[in-house]
Amino acid sequence: KINNFFISVLHTKDGIGIGKIDVSTGEFKVLLIPPSDISKFNDEIHRINPSECIVGTTYLNDPIIISMKKIIPGIKISECDDWYFLPDNAYQTLLKHFKTHSLKGFGIEDNYAILIQVSGAIIGYLIDKRKQSLLHVTKLSIESKDDYMILDRYTQYNLELLKTSTSLLSVLDQTETAMGGRLLNYLILQPLINPDIINKRLDSVEELYVSSVNILEIKEILKDIFDIERIVGRISIGSSNPRDLINLKFSLLIIKRLYEIINNLNAPLWKQLSREIETAMPGLTVVIELIEKSIIDEPPVKIKDGGFVKIGFNAELDELKLIIKEGKNWIAELENTERERTGIKSLKIKFNNVFGYYIEISKANLNYVPDNYTRKQTLVNAERFITPALKEFENRILNADEKMMQIEREIFEKVRLEILNYHNDIQTSAYAVAQTDVLVSLAKIARDRNYIRPIVDNSDKIEIVDGRHPVVESIDEKSKFIPNDTRLDNNENQILIITGPNMAGKSTYIRQVALIVLMAQMGSFVPAQSANIGIVDRVFTRIGASDNIARGESTFLVEMNETANILHNATARSLIILDEIGRGTSTFDGLSIAWATVEYLHDYEKLGTKTLFATHYHELTELSLTLPRVKNYNIAVKEWNDDIIFLRKIIEGGADKSYGIQVARLAGIPQKVISRAKEILQELENNSFDEVGKPKLAHTHEKSYVKQLNLFAENEDIKKLLNKIAKIDINSTTPFDAFTKLNELITMSKNIIES
Ligand code: ADP
Repeated sequence: KINNFFISVLHTKDGIGIGKIDVSTGEFKVLLIPPSDISKFNDEIHRINPSECIVGTTYLNDPIIISMKKIIPGIKISECDDWYFLPDNAYQTLLKHFKTHSLKGFGIEDNYAILIQVSGAIIGYLIDKRKQSLLHVTKLSIESKDDYMILDRYTQYNLELLKTSTSLLSVLDQTETAMGGRLLNYLILQPLINPDIINKRLDSVEELYVSSVNILEIKEILKDIFDIERIVGRISIGSSNPRDLINLKFSLLIIKRLYEIINNLNAPLWKQLSREIETAMPGLTVVIELIEKSIIDEPPVKIKDGGFVKIGFNAELDELKLIIKEGKNWIAELENTERERTGIKSLKIKFNNVFGYYIEISKANLNYVPDNYTRKQTLVNAERFITPALKEFENRILNADEKMMQIEREIFEKVRLEILNYHNDIQTSAYAVAQTDVLVSLAKIARDRNYIRPIVDNSDKIEIVDGRHPVVESIDEKSKFIPNDTRLDNNENQILIITGPNMAGKSTYIRQVALIVLMAQMGSFVPAQSANIGIVDRVFTRIGASDNIARGESTFLVEMNETANILHNATARSLIILDEIGRGTSTFDGLSIAWATVEYLHDYEKLGTKTLFATHYHELTELSLTLPRVKNYNIAVKEWNDDIIFLRKIIEGGADKSYGIQVARLAGIPQKVISRAKEILQELENNSFDEVGKPKLAHTHEKSYVKQLNLFAENEDIKKLLNKIAKIDINSTTPFDAFTKLNELITMSKNIIES
């Protein structure tokens, strides 16, 4: 159910162009990424997940190619002559392929040359080097990021949208056809951002949800539809077989039945789909009739097996078939007469590929063999003979067989080309099937799982009553999922700090909000009692996990890079999900960074980006004292004797304790360790820490150190050192600069100490 993309890329001063084609379905698109925006490029490449990429010879070592190999380790990079990417050549290739005078109709003529270059190169290369016929590739469009919510690859990964067995896709995918499956996959990665279009989709899902239409009946119909997109792809590139044609005919017949049902629905999207099928119908009918009269209903899989053309389609072929059939009778007759003539009851006429036809006589009967038999082969128990009459017959019948094969091949080719005249109609209806399949799937899951229709508008609110996590609630059907409310906006409820002990349900809660938003903008119903979703243009996630250690990068550095990316790109319409950021470093550093990040998001150009921040640093709840748009929530737990019970309910206010020791006990840490930990905790709580969690000892140490420092400050070199430190502008310092500067400071300090 996934697309198999072949891409071309080009990196110029205008930007990075990507051309992508799925040869098996004919989907052909281009997209443009701002110059040198490698991070966006990486996200797109991750989303497209191409299997092969062509690159012009001079671009083989471009940073984007190196980066692409890291992101898709299995990708095949094929070097291609730069010639294919030259603007004029690429342009001419496209005109020739689409048989048009300009590319205006595709909307890329007046855009960037780079889009023409990547798309022309891909077509030119596939036709010249791979000898592909791309007749079914009839459309080229620009994939515009402006129409979709942006989900970078970290977010796709963190929210588990696709690849895992517990992904959002795995829950939502109730599609019956491969085409529907591919479309759903695509829609999950590209939620919409226009409420009108989203609501149109929701209308069509709702009509199925509430009406008496039998969803299961539609699904039964869909179930029998083959992967028409791929069949047409095979027909176009000449790799189809007779069974493909029968499957195509069968599927097109079913589309007629599907049309009858869709045509009775009223939502505008259904009307649009039924109109599309209606327009394609005359073409489909021609194709159905053509296959119906030319190909038998249960043909062999391979063309070379022959015997798949229907009687009555071609007179010459019918005649040859007759000759072959009569030949079989003739053999049976000959066998009889020879048995009578020779008196050998066990005489048999057989055929094999080496000797052709022969008469086989057992050793015991050799005395009765007549004179006109010529010996061909001796076996242990029998001998094989031929006669002139048998030889003559053989020539005739084998010629007929060969001729029959040739005519069948020609007929298949003719039918194939004739079908291709209608591939536009077939593809249009295939896409209508895919859309129907997805909408039906969404309606089915909504009914099965008690989802409701969200209100999607341009407000700045995200208000969810009794929201649930679509995947977690479906994994363990027995233990009841506890629903929770959410209220976010750009003003009073901009940043929610969610505290609670480990295992309380913080991560589940913040992801659930992101998934509900994403589902709503896909046009799906959502797991909640009610939901009002103001359009979100981009979901950012940062999860403080150690998943990058394997790649040899410092977790902390990666975490900070990603946080920086969020801080640079978030808008008032974005939704940020932060889970335990700052965890990759020491407690104080982590806490400080988390603290500063929240302050920044709160004040950042007064955008008011909606943020959910789950953390076990309960110190962060103090932020709400000074920042008016920060609200504290915690996931309630109850103490019971010495245990804790997870209530999974989100309530206003911060958590006051971390319950770390109780959670450790639940995790099976030995009782001895737990008891000792409790003692230490008590000790620490009683006297050793100040109000921000710093060991009190540290203060005395700091004070004496400052005193010494003052003494030393009389020294000129130390003054210089301090001046140098004071002048560092952290905000404009790259990690590399920081390294160099630190090195300088160390050298200066060493010199001071030594002097
Ligand atoms: P935290 O992030 O606070 O450490 P998680 O979100 O990982 O906690 O949740 C821990 C476990 O609790 C999850 O694996 C899930 O099975 C369960 N859980 C979380 N939220 C709920 C809920 N609302 N209802 C029922 N079970 C939940």
